[in-house]
Amino acid sequence: MSETRTTCPYCGVGCGVIAREDEGKVSVRGDDAHPANFGRLCVKGAALGETTGLTGRLLYPEVAGARVSWEVATAETGARLRAIIDEYGPQAVAFYASGQLLTEDYYAANKLMKGFIGAANIDTNSRLCMSSAVTGYKRALGGDVVPCSYEDVENSDLVILVGSNAAWAHPVLYQRLVKAKQANAKMRVVVIDPRRTATCDIADQHLAIAPGSDAGLFVGLLRAIAQQRDVATFTDGAAALAAAQPWNIARVAAFCGLTEQEVAEFYAAFIAAPRAITLYTMGINQSASGSDKCNAIINVHLASGKFARPGCGPFSLTGQPNAMGGREVGGLATMLAAHMNFEPDDLARVARFWGTERLAQTPGLMAVDLFAAIGRGEVKAVWIMGTNPAVSLPDSHAVSQALAACPLVIVSEVAEDTETSRFAHIRFPALSWGEKNGTVTNSERRISRQRAFLPAPGEAKGDWWIIAQVAKALGYGDAFRWQHPHEVFCEHAALSGFENQGQRAFDISGLANLSRQAWDNLMPVRWPVCSTDKEWELTRGWRADGQLRMVPVRPQSTRARTGPLYPLLLNSGRIRDQWHTMTRTGTVARLMQHIDQPIVEVSPGDAAHFQLREGGLARITSLNGMMVAKVVIHAGQRQGSLFVPMHWNACFARLGKVNALVAAQTDPDSGQPESKQVAVRIAPW
Ligand code: SF4
Repeated sequence: MSETRTTCPYCGVGCGVIAREDEGKVSVRGDDAHPANFGRLCVKGAALGETTGLTGRLLYPEVAGARVSWEVATAETGARLRAIIDEYGPQAVAFYASGQLLTEDYYAANKLMKGFIGAANIDTNSRLCMSSAVTGYKRALGGDVVPCSYEDVENSDLVILVGSNAAWAHPVLYQRLVKAKQANAKMRVVVIDPRRTATCDIADQHLAIAPGSDAGLFVGLLRAIAQQRDVATFTDGAAALAAAQPWNIARVAAFCGLTEQEVAEFYAAFIAAPRAITLYTMGINQSASGSDKCNAIINVHLASGKFARPGCGPFSLTGQPNAMGGREVGGLATMLAAHMNFEPDDLARVARFWGTERLAQTPGLMAVDLFAAIGRGEVKAVWIMGTNPAVSLPDSHAVSQALAACPLVIVSEVAEDTETSRFAHIRFPALSWGEKNGTVTNSERRISRQRAFLPAPGEAKGDWWIIAQVAKALGYGDAFRWQHPHEVFCEHAALSGFENQGQRAFDISGLANLSRQAWDNLMPVRWPVCSTDKEWELTRGWRADGQLRMVPVRPQSTRARTGPLYPLLLNSGRIRDQWHTMTRTGTVARLMQHIDQPIVEVSPGDAAHFQLREGGLARITSLNGMMVAKVVIHAGQRQGSLFVPMHWNACFARLGKVNALVAAQTDPDSGQPESKQVAVRIAPW
């Protein structure tokens, strides 16, 4: 029997878990000492022990469907990639990674793609999750820095949740909020969401806004704040205020589908609260104007002074366990490693650190564009790591068609059969939770260890190792000599402080010289962790540099156009007991008991109008595709809109794939798809 401290592999709350292994049987409990959860776990985390079996695992490398040795698989991959690079150039190659990867895996993938293959075509499923939040922070704060913590949520007077069903999607953080509210009778909670979700159970006010109208509400709030405070001191503060001027309460109410009284009550509560914090996630980010929505939120925190103080701030919650770690190492096509940018000084610094002359000089293709480029035949080789884009990307049928026609598809996977891996020419068996060893960073910038406590099954290997072997096969072995993920982590930490130690927000150079034992025992720590004596404070650094900026926002309606043919707006999201495309949670019987098949939530009025009955099947059709789901009539569903879970795919329900309906429309600044509003029609099936 052994016990191991590790971290839950699901959502961005990043809960600490103690895993107990006893003669092959795994059980888990919450880690009392972990500052993200203090011993709590949600139902998904509590069922982790039931997901560690080897049924359905990919255990051996395969080329063209035949089992081969690692030597053959990596040599074949190197040879095929080399042939494509030599004939078509590095831009013909792309990597598509995942917020499920550990930071060390992400670092290795980014280094190989940007540093040595020489194109920046490495993007990630985190593009679908929080890239608008990244853009919002970078535009306003000068860096991708989340300026809040979970303690701030507990120590606030007004907690606003917008576009977030935290009760289901970030359950342990929600439990912390519930407890804090019970302990503080003065705390108010406002939920802004077209649906009445489980999160509304603790709301003092629920603003059931029209889908996609969030920016109007916050731009109007900026106008209201500016009637009492001077906001022109911020860079572009005057321009932001000018953009907000037309948004009086009457206009906001009409735009958002609220009463003027509801809007006025919310504004008064925000302005009066000594401390206010806004939690936002996919309902804000997954929009063709998601970046502007993020900045509309950040603007009101800057303008009101409810920023960078305890209990205050704009707090973007990450969806995945390591979306934040991916951002840190440059796992997005638009960033270099260690939060550096495609700017001359940063490019030169990263090239010196890696000792490369091939560093990509310009940003690469973002997720939706990347798969479109595969579809056009411009990208001829794609390596997909730990994610299932044939299900999760918008216009997923087009993604499948692109993969079917791509000359070289490489997939690193835990599962033997996914919709994506069916297109693979080369398959690498990767390690899963409990087997792999490294670090992840949660929503509040806290780095935690994911530790191995199970043996590697079959011939499965860590992603960082697989990437290093392919790098060697491509002739770049000198830069990929790591023998252990501890060495990858220390290199990543050293880069974060290279030549400008203590000068930048993302600096963990204080961890660069950890011994193997110290890394093994690393306790959760929030960055920055500098190795200089210089005191570093988030806001002091920004203000000294004059970098705080308000972004003028002009609220836009959703791109989805309803009309006689497609009269309804479809929203999608998580349900309480499932995770992503269900490759792990779908195997646990008790997690299927909550909701066991694709459903569509319909308001009572729409159910009557479209002749839908509770429990019957309905066909939902958009311009892009169709799906079938079981009807659930829900009084909390806003009339004119539908809700469908995002999780089901063809492995679980052939016609239950919601992303078949979603158009590949993206935010022009962040590249994040508009997954939350799709014009559809519905009819009995
Ligand atoms: Fe895991 Fe998130 Fe649940 Fe915590 S809240 S146990 S991180 S799924």
